Amino acid sequence: MARKFFVGGNWKCNGTTEEVKKIVTTLNEAEVPSHDVVEVVVSPPFVFLTLVKGLLRSDFHVAAQNCWVRKGGAFTGEVSAEMLVNLGIPWVIIGHSERRALLNESNEFVGDKVAYALSQGLKVIACIGETLEQRESGSTMAVVAAQTKAIADKITNWDNVVLAYEPVWAIGTGKVATPAQAQEVHCELRKWLNENVGADVAASTRIIYGGSVNGANCQELAGQADVDGFLVGGASLKPEFVDIIKSAT
Ligand code: PGA
Repeated sequence: MARKFFVGGNWKCNGTTEEVKKIVTTLNEAEVPSHDVVEVVVSPPFVFLTLVKGLLRSDFHVAAQNCWVRKGGAFTGEVSAEMLVNLGIPWVIIGHSERRALLNESNEFVGDKVAYALSQGLKVIACIGETLEQRESGSTMAVVAAQTKAIADKITNWDNVVLAYEPVWAIGTGKVATPAQAQEVHCELRKWLNENVGADVAASTRIIYGGSVNGANCQELAGQADVDGFLVGGASLKPEFVDIIKSAT
């Protein structure tokens, strides 16, 4: 089954109204491959979601960077999946390593969040990835398999899930995984899905790479058989994000 290339821009906790408008203008003016070839989703902070959704070209979509693990209510400071749906936000990023590390989001909590977001009709970019210590101790595959299993244990339908492999040591460090390193893990993840979830899910689920992707390194990474796109942090705030979108072809 063909997997449409997917490019996500994770703006993290960055931007002012003016800066956000400027990024959107750059994206709106860009000439990129058609929606049949590449799916583009940008993820501004919550407070800018509606602004960006209103200004952004109609072939690109928006994602929230997080949502609450269950139905909204007395959870001060949280944003529920229902609210995102109500605002017409189609996507949400869940389990980003910054939240896993800084806010102690466990594998199980991430699995619960993915399941709840899907149950409300959101599409999910689910993030996994090992730390440098884990890679150096040879446990990369065990770590990402456990993170994926915690999601697989809670969901039955993978149609609306994009799996983002983001090695923690590569995020925001400028130390991108080599194309071979990315391909190796993506291929293993697909095998894991094949053995533990099913052949169809393994064949159709997009596995995207994140961690210091930029305009210069995207092409070679995009050429790897099991790299179905990118989740981009720093470079998604810059005009080179357009070059990354173009690496789809
Ligand atoms: P980076 O971030 O591209 O700045 O390394 C990627 C991410 O955190 O999704």
